[in-house]
Amino acid sequence: MIHELTRPEGVRAQVGVIGGSGLYDPGIVEDPVEVRVSTPYGRPSDFITVGSVGGVRVAFLPRHGRGHTLPPHRINYRANIWALRALGVRWVISVSAVGSLREDYRPGDFVVPDQFIDMTKGRQYTFYDGPVTVHVSMADPFCEDLRARLVDAARRLGYPVHERGTYVCIEGPRFSTRAESRVWREVFGADIIGMTLVPEVNLACEAELCYATLAMVTDYDVWAERPVTAGEVERIMRENVERARRILYEVIPKLAGDPDPARCSCCRALSHAVV
Ligand SMILES: [Zn+2]
Repeated sequence: MIHELTRPEGVRAQVGVIGGSGLYDPGIVEDPVEVRVSTPYGRPSDFITVGSVGGVRVAFLPRHGRGHTLPPHRINYRANIWALRALGVRWVISVSAVGSLREDYRPGDFVVPDQFIDMTKGRQYTFYDGPVTVHVSMADPFCEDLRARLVDAARRLGYPVHERGTYVCIEGPRFSTRAESRVWREVFGADIIGMTLVPEVNLACEAELCYATLAMVTDYDVWAERPVTAGEVERIMRENVERARRILYEVIPKLAGDPDPARCSCCRALSHAVV
């Protein structure tokens, strides 16, 4: 049953999960209710599934829409983050598929990035289009508390995980040229590449949400000159989506409380940022 909400007072969630390619339905949410939230920025990518995981209320949103109808540059990132915030969400776990820019970040590995480089070209990057102007700090763009929880969970489950990485976000929808891929690796020193992190991460920061990304490596970017077949990518995606589900199932039940203030300043992001 789908509820149409403009002011979703009745439906609340503590944790938001934004699912990427392959993860359109977490399949782990108990007693799901589907809600469509209207926002000042238009509609989010799809209905939001709200339910419980281990006693914690979760809101799940497929970033590309069910059936993958939205390419990265057409996603309404502002509506997505706004809608999660309107449901009361404090923590956001973003799941995404990425390419690897280095040999030792192998297809099938997880990466929990700690930095990003923005090479997108024309997206809606802020909730503050004036008259209020906001310059949030992006020095450490991810929630350190949530990052640590994701890394710990992946390790406990025995999955290969890299606890740091620089994610270069390109505009897409095309992939990089060989020359570009060399720049990302050799000049930028980036580790993984994708098309959806920006502006999701900075909007989450403006919304004072604790945000971290669980990135799943599906292939080596074009630099490797070792093309993987579509079949291989699909097998890796299938296995990793199942693993991502298990990581979510480990992490979410422990997100009932507030973030650790020693490791997280996300919820105070605006205190020095409003001009
Ligand atoms: Zn935080």
